[in-house]
This record gives sequence, C-alpha cells and structure tokens, in this order.
Amino acid sequence: MHKNALTDADIILHNANLLTLSDGNYGVIENGFLAMKNGKISDLGAIDETLSAFIDNTTVSTFDLQQRWISPGLIDCHTHIVFGGNRSQEFEQRLNGVSYAEIAQRGGGILSTVKSTRAATENDLYKSALKRVECLMDEGVTTIEAKSGYGLDSESELKLLRVIKQLDSTLAIDFTPTFLGAHALPPEFKNDPEGYITLICEEMLPQVKTENLANTVDAFCETIGFTRDQVKRVFEKAKELGMNVKLHAEQLSDQQGSQLAANFGALSVDHLEYISDEGIEAIAKSGTTAVLLPAAFYYLRESQLPPIEKLRAKNVPIALATDCNPGSSPCTSLLLVMNMACTLFKMTPLESWLGVTRHAAKALGEENNKGQLCKGMVADLAIWDIEHPSDVPYAFGHNPCVGVFKNGQLILDKLNQTN
Ligand SMILES: [Zn+2]
Repeated sequence: MHKNALTDADIILHNANLLTLSDGNYGVIENGFLAMKNGKISDLGAIDETLSAFIDNTTVSTFDLQQRWISPGLIDCHTHIVFGGNRSQEFEQRLNGVSYAEIAQRGGGILSTVKSTRAATENDLYKSALKRVECLMDEGVTTIEAKSGYGLDSESELKLLRVIKQLDSTLAIDFTPTFLGAHALPPEFKNDPEGYITLICEEMLPQVKTENLANTVDAFCETIGFTRDQVKRVFEKAKELGMNVKLHAEQLSDQQGSQLAANFGALSVDHLEYISDEGIEAIAKSGTTAVLLPAAFYYLRESQLPPIEKLRAKNVPIALATDCNPGSSPCTSLLLVMNMACTLFKMTPLESWLGVTRHAAKALGEENNKGQLCKGMVADLAIWDIEHPSDVPYAFGHNPCVGVFKNGQLILDKLNQTN
C-alpha cells in the first residue's frame, strides 16, 4: 500500500524509531521508515516484510538509521538572538557585589546592548548571531523565531530585521522574524513613551511592512516596559497592516496583557509567570499558545512559577523556547530548556517534546507545516542516538542529536560517527 509513495521518494530512512508527536502523545512507531519527496514527508509507518523486501531491492536512495530515533526538527519559537555587544562583564560585576542601579548608572543593562547594537554593522551582528545559531542547529533546531528590539530607532530596528532575513537566506534552517520595537524605551524618548509609540506606529511599522521584513509584531507589556494601552496602540496598527501579534506578558507582574493579546487573536503570549485565571480563560478561548521560558526564570532566579496546572486544565497548548538574549537568558540550548521545563516547571518529558515541536509550530502559526511527523508536512527532521524519547529532556549537558534534515536535505551528519 505504501509502494507508490516509496518508488517515487527522493530518500527513504529506515530501521528507525519514529517520534511522530502526531496524536498529542509521543506517537511512537518502532522499527519504522520515513520517505521524503520534494522536501516534504511523503510517507511513513512501520516496516513489514513487503516493505523490507522493497527497501532491499529499490534504486531509491535509502538510509539505514540503525534503530536511531527520528523526531520533527526542533523549533525555538522565542529568541532575541541577534544583538550587539557582550554583557558577561556585568554578570561578573553583579556577582562581585555591584548593584543593578550602579550597573545602570555605568551605562549597563539593556541600554548597553542598545548602544552596541546601534554601533554594530549588519555584518558584525550576523557574525555574532551565527555563533549562537550554530549551537541551536547542532541540537536539531530547524526553525528559529528571532526578534528585533535592541535598536529602538527606525534605522537600527530595520537593521536587525535585515540581519535576521540574511540568516534565513544564507543558512539551511528557517528564521521567523518578529518586530519588537516596543521592547524598551530608548534614551531619546526617556520621558515620552507615547511619543515613542507614535514613532513605532507611524514610522517603523509601515517601513517593516513595506520592506517585508516581518509579519509579526511583539511588545513587552510590563511596569518596566509598556502599558496595556500603549501596547494596544501598537497592536491596532499591526492589525491595520495585516500583521500577526504576540506579547511578552505577565513576566514580572499581572498587567492583564494576556487578555489584551487574546482580544487581538495573538499567536502566543510569552513568559506568563503572573497570568491570572481570567488571562488563562481568555487565551484558552482565543486559541493563543502559551510560550514558557524556563531559562529566563532560572537566570533571573525567579520564584513565581507559571500556572502549569491551570493551563493544562484549560487545554492551552504550551510551547517552550530559549528566550536567547544577553540580559535575562544567555542560553543557546533548547535541550537544556526541555530539561528545565521538567525540573523547574514540573512539566512531563512528553510536554517538553510537544513544547519544542508541535506547540512551538503553533506559536508561529506553522502548525499545518511543521512540528509533527506526518504526511505532507515539511521534511524537517532531527535524528537522535537515544533509547527512549525521555532520554532527551532527562540528561543535560549532553547532546544526542546525530543528524538533521531540513526540507529533505541532510544538513548535519554525524550518523557514521561511532560512540
Ligand atoms: Zn523575550
């Protein structure tokens, strides 16, 4: 019954265990095969005798995976991976007893990243981001969402988005760009947040749209960020331009940003340590994905856990991401984030897998293309040298990813390395 799809395939992987994640469960197919055609998954299933005979005799290119596991390529659905400068010295100062206020007075904190980002060329930004991106690619990540938000003026915000576009066009993996002009207040608008929001709405957003640099708009709704009304202005403009929205919400306090985002049909609300029952109700109704960021929780030594039980009870899809950024999550390991989701947030290993595949795809509006192994989906695959799917979130500091296919092409190959 599989024969037509197989005769026609570009490549068939076999003698593999498939982690399909296609039924809200692991969806394991032991001793299976997966066929790819034109960059898509064309067939998959368990190997029987007929198939096995076909694989032995076919002229189609086949690959014996020797019982390794195939999962969907991982998706990091929330990063600020492109930025200038380096904040490790601040980290050192802080641990030597220098206060946050003093560090800020010395020009540290987010504004130091803004200053370095503005001063950097596109090439500088590309090269520094590439080192971080390569860490994620080694772990089987095939799609990365990347935000602007460290430029905070028109020219620098567009520069960041162009670098993201360049990463997308030069690397084998996909980048999903997000415009985050409303990340922090730039020094030029220190006492005029409304003026800055006007600049975003009247100048930056139309330019982003005209140059086709992003189709999604994010904002930071927080006491130290922007108010709900200010975010609303940005979202109204985004919708007018036909763009998607998402929100950094309820990270440090409950600003009821989730309700606002839900009203605008947001793809995701992210962080959520302080989300209220009403917020959960709102996002459950709007079909918005909850993106949790355990590495930021860890790095900031937060103690308020996001309400996992309540999100589960309302069947809100929960995605996980690195939040890779220089200030609150200098993290370039999505595998570590899976482990932290289990240890810090008490999510199950299955939830950690869904969080970086199926639910992460939904957070990007890509749930019909990515995040599961099933026919017709993009052939983005990670190959794992493991005995069980729980090996991946269980161990940390260990990378069992031995191969990656992107759009049906082998882009990482450690398959013949023996352990
Ligand atoms: Zn973030």
